[in-house]
Amino acid sequence: MTGTTPEYGAGFCCDCGRTTVAGRILGHVDQSSGPGYTVILCPNCDLKPPKSRVRPYGRALA
Ligand SMILES: [Zn+2]
Repeated sequence: MTGTTPEYGAGFCCDCGRTTVAGRILGHVDQSSGPGYTVILCPNCDLKPPKSRVRPYGRALA
């Protein structure tokens, strides 16, 4: 494994909560009680910018 190729799979989008069949796998969460689940980001949310954007520069654009 190279670790650079993104994995895709089906599951619930961690952002919008919808079911997707071709979401990008962000990781796996193991729960102490019950089975773990896969964290997936659907293609629609994958195109959106992150919610908490941090400006690379401290300049105000206003
Ligand atoms: Zn989504």
